[in-house]
Amino acid sequence: MKDIILTTYPCGEIKRKREQVRSFLLQRSTVIKGVDLAQLSSNDLELMFELYDQVFFEGWIQRNYSGRMQFSISRKMTNSAGKTVCLRNDSSKPDSTVIEVRISQQILSNYGMVEGADMVGGIKTGSRLEALQLIFEHELIHVIEFICFGESSCKQSRFKTMADNLFGHKENYHQLPTNKQIAQQRLGLSPGSAVAFPYQDRKLEGILCSIRKRASVMVSDKNGRYCDKEGQRYSKYLVPLQLLEAPRK
Ligand SMILES: [Zn+2]
Repeated sequence: MKDIILTTYPCGEIKRKREQVRSFLLQRSTVIKGVDLAQLSSNDLELMFELYDQVFFEGWIQRNYSGRMQFSISRKMTNSAGKTVCLRNDSSKPDSTVIEVRISQQILSNYGMVEGADMVGGIKTGSRLEALQLIFEHELIHVIEFICFGESSCKQSRFKTMADNLFGHKENYHQLPTNKQIAQQRLGLSPGSAVAFPYQDRKLEGILCSIRKRASVMVSDKNGRYCDKEGQRYSKYLVPLQLLEAPRK
């Protein structure tokens, strides 16, 4: 491979290579049992990284990057599916660089919960594992940019061209369901909606305020810490989405 930045694969070859990575991963992982990813570890991300480097890049990353790679599965990321950060301790020493790829556990576990919301990078995915691959491919372009240029942005045309040439990605973003979309589409709830939820042995009613990992609900409470413009006081409750329901009329 002369120059990874100029490499372009035809569509059929990308598909074949992606399937090859998938079948190697299923063969070699001690944790992953199937494409629904009931279990996934950060070691699997590392294995996937090595497979992509071999299958798509002919070992280019291994030959051209002397720093360290780290992989993690994030419980905090609720909107982004993946994130790549580059920590450079000393720019005069390339081997002190650490590049970390984080994958959102929440977005992966939401896969399949809203019908039709299964596109990543403009490509329809057939399984949770395939969605993870496409998320990972996006992050790999960030990795290559960090190695080649010391900076990376998926908003720039350089990134978009490489993502299209190497992986056939037509878009930057995933359309996998976020908790917010699940609440909106499955429960008909959005911020401002009146909601009820069980709390200890009672049922509380309040106003849905925001949805991240859990829903924040403001419940009227004369001793509450939160106050609105009218001087009404509230307490905030963090409620798992599956416990939210419509209030009794
Ligand atoms: Zn990005």
